Amino acid sequence: STEEMLLEVKNLSKQFGGIKAVDNVNLQIRKGEIISVIGPNGAGKTTVFNLLTGIYKPDHGEIYFRGEAIHHLPPIEIVHKGIARTFQNIRLFHDMRVIENVLVGTHHRTKYTFLDSSLRTKRFRKEEDERVVQAIRLLQLLKLDHRRDEYAANLPYGDQRKVEIARAIATGAKLILLDEPAAGMNPQESLELMGFIRELRDMGYTILMIEHDMSVVMNISDRIYVIDHGKPIADGLPKEIANNKEVIEAYLGGL
Ligand code: ATP
Repeated sequence: STEEMLLEVKNLSKQFGGIKAVDNVNLQIRKGEIISVIGPNGAGKTTVFNLLTGIYKPDHGEIYFRGEAIHHLPPIEIVHKGIARTFQNIRLFHDMRVIENVLVGTHHRTKYTFLDSSLRTKRFRKEEDERVVQAIRLLQLLKLDHRRDEYAANLPYGDQRKVEIARAIATGAKLILLDEPAAGMNPQESLELMGFIRELRDMGYTILMIEHDMSVVMNISDRIYVIDHGKPIADGLPKEIANNKEVIEAYLGGL
């Protein structure tokens, strides 16, 4: 592929006490790809996300985003660079409305301190308006528009997951990390999720996701990375992974 290399991870390692949670993991992700990371419970998948988003610092290895080293940056600066995520356990503000939760994703973009005070209010309002318009568009795309003014706590689980994805996108990030997006979704919701992830790709986003639902993984991934006990054991096209003996033994056989 001639597409731009968006994320390059080299020899990434992280240890907790005696446990090598992530052990020499390499990733190469190009713009517009949908990539999955799979592996058994405790394989180190979420730790990879925590390293990519600056929550943990790697013991070894490097992370490059658009060719720039980011492994030393704090989480908020990594969001500024263009990487945002969702969490395995949904983290929404339950006493805020759906649209307000999406708008939370945009707040870090406000840089009003750089503006002259007379301009500040005007510019700020305009930016706010644009963000609201963008948030409404995202909710429309997610078919959540009719729930815009409901409290997040009152939404069904699948819809709460979508709000979390919308909030990640609202940050302005171009690489979206999804931690088990299909978890707790019924088959119909999973199908819609897959459609939505493809739409995101068509809009220019790049998706890296952790997912246990193999029908989702095999259906929408361009490539798949498999890790087990922190170690990379395979990577390739979905059909290569589905037929890989070591992957079947370590993971797929048990599903
Ligand atoms: P799952 O599919 O169950 O979510 P996972 O592949 O995401 O699992 P991780 O959550 O990354 O796996 O955990 C990898 C290993 O690192 C596990 O043994 C876990 O107990 C350990 N671990 C993760 N975070 C920490 C931490 N903050 N402190 C100590 N150990 C940790």
